[in-house]
Amino acid sequence: MKRVALFPGSFDPFTRGHEDIVLRGLNLFDEIVISIGYNSGKSQRYFAIEQMMAKIRETFKSYPQISVVTYAELTAEFAKKNGAKYLLRGLRNTTDFEYENSIAQVNRHLNQELESVFLITSPQFASINSSIIREVHRYKGDVSGFLPYNL
Ligand code: ADP
Repeated sequence: MKRVALFPGSFDPFTRGHEDIVLRGLNLFDEIVISIGYNSGKSQRYFAIEQMMAKIRETFKSYPQISVVTYAELTAEFAKKNGAKYLLRGLRNTTDFEYENSIAQVNRHLNQELESVFLITSPQFASINSSIIREVHRYKGDVSGFLPYNL
C-alpha cells in the first residue's frame, strides 16, 4: 500500500520552509499531496490561489510523486477522499506547537485513521514566515530569498 500524505496549508505564499518540509517528507511517504485550503480562518488571501498552485507545481515539476490541489472542506474529509492516511505539518516553535496540537486533536477526532506527522523545521528556515513575507512584499521589499520560485 502506498503511503500517501496530505500537506495542507494556506501557503500564502509557499516558502522555502514549506519546500523543505515537502522534500524531507519524501523520505517518509510515497506520495505527497500539497493541499491549498480555501477554508482557513484567514479569509482573504494575499496571493491568488491559482498563482500559488502554478508556482508550487513549477517548483516540484521534476517530482511525479508530488501533486498540488486546492480544497474547500474539512481537511480530515479531504484526506479520506484522497486515500491519505497521514497529514504532514511543520513545527517551528512553541506557538506552532500549541496550534498544531489543537488541530491534530480535532483531526483525530474527525478521522481516527488519520495520523498527523510533524517535522521540525530546518534551522536555516526556522524564521521564514508567510505573514512576514506578505508584509515585505506589500511594501515592495525583495522576498525572492524566501521563496523557491520567482514571483
Ligand atoms: P496554515 O494556515 O494551515 O497554518 P501555513 O501555510 O501557514 O498553513 O503552513 C503550513 C504548515 O507549514 C504548517 O504546519 C506550518 O507550521 C508549517 N510551516 C510554515 N512555515 C514553516 C517553516 N519555515 N518551516 C517549517 N514549517 C513551516
